[in-house]
Amino acid sequence: MPGFELFGDKERKQVQDVMDSGVLMRYGFDGMRNGHWKAKELELALAKRMGTNHAHLVSSGTAALTVALASAGVGAGDEVIMPTFTFVASFESILALGAVPILVDIDDTLTLNPDAVEKAITPKTKVVMPVHMCGSMANLEALQHICNKHNLLLLEDACQAIGGTYKGQPLGSIGNLGCFSFDYVKTITCGEGGAVITNNETYYENAHKYADHGHDHIGNDRGVESHPFLGYNFRISEMNAAVGVAQLARLDEFLAIQKTNYTILREALSQIPEVVFRSVPEGGEENYSFLNFFMPTEALAQKTHKALAANGVDACFYWYNNNWHYYKKWEHLTQMKSLGNLPQEVRAQLPDYSKADFSASDHWMGRTNSCLIKLGWTEQQTRERAEKMVKAIKSVV
Ligand SMILES: *Cc1c(COP(=O)(O)O)cnc(C)c1O
Repeated sequence: MPGFELFGDKERKQVQDVMDSGVLMRYGFDGMRNGHWKAKELELALAKRMGTNHAHLVSSGTAALTVALASAGVGAGDEVIMPTFTFVASFESILALGAVPILVDIDDTLTLNPDAVEKAITPKTKVVMPVHMCGSMANLEALQHICNKHNLLLLEDACQAIGGTYKGQPLGSIGNLGCFSFDYVKTITCGEGGAVITNNETYYENAHKYADHGHDHIGNDRGVESHPFLGYNFRISEMNAAVGVAQLARLDEFLAIQKTNYTILREALSQIPEVVFRSVPEGGEENYSFLNFFMPTEALAQKTHKALAANGVDACFYWYNNNWHYYKKWEHLTQMKSLGNLPQEVRAQLPDYSKADFSASDHWMGRTNSCLIKLGWTEQQTRERAEKMVKAIKSVV
């Protein structure tokens, strides 16, 4: 997955443009910038690549989620449905707005289970936020149907699946809003950065204002702009955006490498009857950033994880025990450990997750191993890796 692996002259050239003018900020300083508007350039390129009317860059994927929610009017006491398997940014962004994260089970797609989503809807629900984990997507047709039926917004967290598609459309472009991260370990990177994409003009107008202290961005004198509503600072710098301009231009190259490497590993593992691959919704195409597979039992999955490491296969994750990505280790959330007081709405409405039953999620996560697909492997290295993986898995089944 990581774009940092293939980082070089193209990125350097873009950053040099910014260094030469010294304008490190995305807004203003028109006379000094030698015509370089890296953030704007990347936004136009991203919107084009994703087939949406708008894209707005921000400082991180977490900021993108926060800005996306805020731009759709999500605030204190609104409930946002999110999966038990995701990155901590999901609930961080929701809580940042005083909204309430409602955790919901995943299924064999490793993303939101649509039936569980429908059961979790209350009069306070405002958004359904599927997270396309490890390169593949939620059942977006089913989720869209539920959202339409209950008048909810669909916000896709596509931070780990940029370039994947569903029924021919880019992930992130299907919901009312979509978010990407360009942090250092994502498929393409800005160092730090993120983006919100949408076809909705109002959300876009809200997003760029909210992410810049509520500035209306009318005219070309920042000093006299007015503030139609409260905002915050989630701006990206020109330096980071410059890196992204070069990386986005290479997205299809990276995806092709991931697909080649993924396919070699998958074909090798397919010989083992006990290995079952993660389910991809009909009409979906992964971005091939991870190879995810189930073992028949939790015990075998744990043994597989250990055997892979023992056989020199690095970058394979057993998320079930992982600090960052699965609800079991989110003690700071379940015990509501915040530095200051949480909003009253959150304290009143947050379910007691220490007592929650997510055994349906455990059923899948306990059996899952996820192996990162790297861009830098040669074909020879990938084939050797495939052999080692097969050997490791066969040693435990
Ligand atoms: C990386 C990631 C984020 C947050 O991105 P940052 O840029 O690191 O803040 C959000 N959601 C998912 C699924 C991610 O993997």
